Amino acid sequence: MSPREMPHVVVVTSRCRHSRQTFGVRVEEVKSQDWHATWAFAIKDDAAKREGYSKAILRGRFAIDHQYPGCPGCTGKGLVKCQCGQLSCFDGETREFTCPWCNRGGKLGGAVDNLSARGDR
Ligand SMILES: [Zn+2]
Ligand SMILES: [Zn+2]
Repeated sequence: MSPREMPHVVVVTSRCRHSRQTFGVRVEEVKSQDWHATWAFAIKDDAAKREGYSKAILRGRFAIDHQYPGCPGCTGKGLVKCQCGQLSCFDGETREFTCPWCNRGGKLGGAVDNLSARGDR
């Protein structure tokens, strides 16, 4: 298989709502415009900046893959996106939401349908 045929894989940054730990989420384009989160791993903030993880912009549908291990901080299996554009973990239960990036609270807006996470705050 040539490298060109490898699946699109990007890493976006997220943050745990409980521990406020930054973590990377590996997202694979399993079909055209169909993205699955398949892995999550703890990273340091400065490493995330250095690697440019948060520059990824994904277009299309987004789903949590069944093999996704959950948030490294609290094992929450979901992801939600705040109005500020940043991702955080979601345990699937809490209705009230406080963003660990911008500290704004609010109601959850439903499923993440695109990931245009940006690193600069
Ligand atoms: Zn978490
Ligand atoms: Zn926010």
